[in-house]
Amino acid sequence: MENGAGNGMAVAAAAAAAAPAATWNFAPNEALLGLTALSVRGVLGRVKAGMVAGGGARPVIPMGHGDPSVFPCFRTAPEAVDAVAGALRSWEHNSYSTCVGLEPARRSIAKYLSHNLPYELSPDDVYLTSGCAQAIEIICSVLARPGANILLPRPGYLFYEARAVFNGMEARYYDLLPEKDWEVDIHGVQALADENTVAMVIVNPGNPCGNVYTYEHLAKVAETARKLGIFVITDEVYAHLTFGERKFVPMGVFGEVAPVFTLGSISKRWLVPGWRLGWIVTNDPNSVFQRTKVVDSIKSYLDISSDPPTFVQGAIPNLLENTKEEFFDKTVKILRETSDICWEKLKGISAITCPSKPEGSMFVMVKLDLTCLQDIKDDMDFCCRLAKEELVVLLPGYKNWLRITFAIDPSSLEDGLDRLKSFCLRHSKPTK
Ligand SMILES: *Cc1c(COP(=O)(O)O)cnc(C)c1O
Repeated sequence: MENGAGNGMAVAAAAAAAAPAATWNFAPNEALLGLTALSVRGVLGRVKAGMVAGGGARPVIPMGHGDPSVFPCFRTAPEAVDAVAGALRSWEHNSYSTCVGLEPARRSIAKYLSHNLPYELSPDDVYLTSGCAQAIEIICSVLARPGANILLPRPGYLFYEARAVFNGMEARYYDLLPEKDWEVDIHGVQALADENTVAMVIVNPGNPCGNVYTYEHLAKVAETARKLGIFVITDEVYAHLTFGERKFVPMGVFGEVAPVFTLGSISKRWLVPGWRLGWIVTNDPNSVFQRTKVVDSIKSYLDISSDPPTFVQGAIPNLLENTKEEFFDKTVKILRETSDICWEKLKGISAITCPSKPEGSMFVMVKLDLTCLQDIKDDMDFCCRLAKEELVVLLPGYKNWLRITFAIDPSSLEDGLDRLKSFCLRHSKPTK
């Protein structure tokens, strides 16, 4: 019976294939095809295109994007795993969630973030998202109105540009200043903003620069935003991942000066980017977001989008409350060690300079000196050749800067940096 039906379909399909070609009404969304240049995945795809993994003799060293969870030394906390297992075993989290997220999860995130603030957040300030990436997507969608522009840091995290542009918003770039530990160029921000500017984005601790901003600098950012009548979107996905002199200060501390959207997730601090749980939090004691109805548009957006998995939401209260300090300390200790290795080894490569020692996140931004190299066109060319010849994957930055992540296990990192050095030596110009 079944075979008979199968054969019948096969015959019909063959007949259809023989018919003259139809004209189809669909075409790709051209706006999307142009965006691959703006996504980490798209750029990594280009970098890796010519790479042929060498049969296992030499492993590929992934220093291009931050997902350390594949390395045993960056394994998440057992309490986090217990929290998720407990949520599953409770049988209480198999349903759809509410669109803003489960109340206990929102309450515990409000409490967790309030530790570092001069005021208390309420659960109603918290919206759960599928990772920080969806938080960015939502914010960019909510803010996009015809003619609006948004101020983004350069160098920055590509996803903002891609989401802003895809939503029809104009992205304008202010500089981060390498000689000032990648502080925001405040004058640049003022020069760029006009009456159609809706917000400025900061990433702190920073990807890709490894910056950690001081209280004083964040105060200046808040004052500037207030003067310009815009609000601040702060990406704090690397909150507390600091290993230098400076401690993490949340931008929400200045919510009274200018309203702040804090974006975050458990992906980086808990080393579980695959669990897909993040948040948008309004740090806005003066209720500007309520008055301007930005909050209503977030809720409307959430009504028509998908939610993070309910059992991960269900795990959040235990995950936040039970994770031990030792786990966080261990992660920070390894990042301190790997950032030191990176800093020291990069000093020994003459074609590369690192203007500022990373103090937070998992990244460092380094400058390529092409005048030392004889046959490399630009940062993209450098990364493609490096991947092909040394199986080391780095991300091109902009204007011949490179983005490097050091959040990989220390011995792989040393290996990767040694290969980077041999590559530079092999391609260096003969000295006269
Ligand atoms: C990794 C990263 C994100 C995305 O975080 P997810 O929670 O994995 O979606 C957002 N912003 C920055 C700066 C990141 O590095």
